Amino acid sequence: MPKSPFFTEEHTLFRTSIREFLHKEMTPHFGEWEANEQIPRWAWEKMGEMGYLALGHPEAYGGMPVDWFTHVVYCEELSRALNAGFAAAMTVHQYMATNHLSRAGSDLLRQKYLAPAIQGKKIACLGMSEPHVGSNVQGLKTFAQDMGDHYLVTGSKIFITNGYYADFMTLCCNTDQGISLIVVDLDADGVSRNKLKKIGWHSSDTAEVFFDQVKVPKENLIGEAGKGFYLISDSLQTERLIASISSLGTLDGVMAMTQQYMREREAFGRPIAKFQALRHRMADLATEIEACRQLIYSTVWKVENGVFAVKECSMCKLYSAELTIKVVNECLQMYGGYGYMEDFPIAQVYRDCRAGSIAGGTSEIMREIIAKMTLDGVEYKQAY
Ligand SMILES: Cc1cc2nc3c(=O)[nH]c(=O)nc-3n(C[C@H](O)[C@H](O)[C@H](O)COP(=O)(O)OP(=O)(O)OC[C@H]3O[C@@H](n4cnc5c(N)ncnc54)[C@H](O)[C@@H]3O)c2cc1C
Repeated sequence: MPKSPFFTEEHTLFRTSIREFLHKEMTPHFGEWEANEQIPRWAWEKMGEMGYLALGHPEAYGGMPVDWFTHVVYCEELSRALNAGFAAAMTVHQYMATNHLSRAGSDLLRQKYLAPAIQGKKIACLGMSEPHVGSNVQGLKTFAQDMGDHYLVTGSKIFITNGYYADFMTLCCNTDQGISLIVVDLDADGVSRNKLKKIGWHSSDTAEVFFDQVKVPKENLIGEAGKGFYLISDSLQTERLIASISSLGTLDGVMAMTQQYMREREAFGRPIAKFQALRHRMADLATEIEACRQLIYSTVWKVENGVFAVKECSMCKLYSAELTIKVVNECLQMYGGYGYMEDFPIAQVYRDCRAGSIAGGTSEIMREIIAKMTLDGVEYKQAY
């Protein structure tokens, strides 16, 4: 076998070790976390101790800068374990909330929030969506009023992953200068939260968070006031790529699990894996997954090499999310009646995967971006 153009031997060793770790230390607890709708603090701290939450962050704060294909291995394996709530909780913490501190946070913010987040001792969330504004970030209503030495934050956020149990939020809000990112302690006076009931991702808590005149020190501003939109726009590309890699992990996990079932389940005196009608459907899915994988890996390669790949990241997110919904639906069919039973993990994967085409930018928004770039000739430049 020739050498992979994307993965080294170190990546392969890392894949083996994280897969074993998840299998031994995390997977046995998934059922309990799904039922309790909470990931216990010890699991966050264990992920921190193992150094997984450090990936991509600066060494000075306990982080571990790595290449993009290490992120690929990490996120694929998190999702391959087939508890999307758990994978979402970890990746939102790492790639959507604390990444802004690494990129533009002051030393003080990094010491106070990033370092404990890397250790899994503080949980982070990102507050962007609002009850009346989801897809259009520029219409945000939450406002941080400049009071001289502090801000007074008023407004609300919705659908916030980790939002119910998190210690702090990277809040995307309006200030006099425009959209800004501000770190808000979620135990501050004036913050209240409401845990939302979802159809899937049960291990991960999702919240509505209200801010009523919440006093936040001015030093909690990330980067410059009014530059938050640029920070968010840039990091959306990374988030979308991470979401795509996570979908790929789910696809690999669900295919492996379903193929195993098909080899074991018999009908009419032979394994159902031997029925041509089913084999050919699985062959089609495997082909599409491989096409999706190549799109994602080549986009990761571009990003690793400094390309601001807005179109490709949007294509990855669109294609992988929609493909996951299709593949999981087809895989469930292979289980017959058992596929409809909660006792079988495929049922959970079916509920979980539906979030993929909504969270982190809907498929319609991805199509809009791709259409603007391919039809209208729009180009996006890295802003920050
Ligand atoms: C499980 C889950 C976790 C989430 N986690 C977070 C989180 O941690 N932090 C956070 O800030 N948000 C989070 N979100 C929110 C998510 O990012 C938003 O739901 C998403 O961006 C869509 O916004 P909306 O729900 O307001 O839908 P809307 O913007 O109201 O859209 C409604 C429908 O209209 C379509 N639409 C909107 N605008 C256009 C357009 N211009 N052209 C074509 N169609 C359009 C949309 O695609 C959608 O189908 C999460 C959501 C879910 C489901």
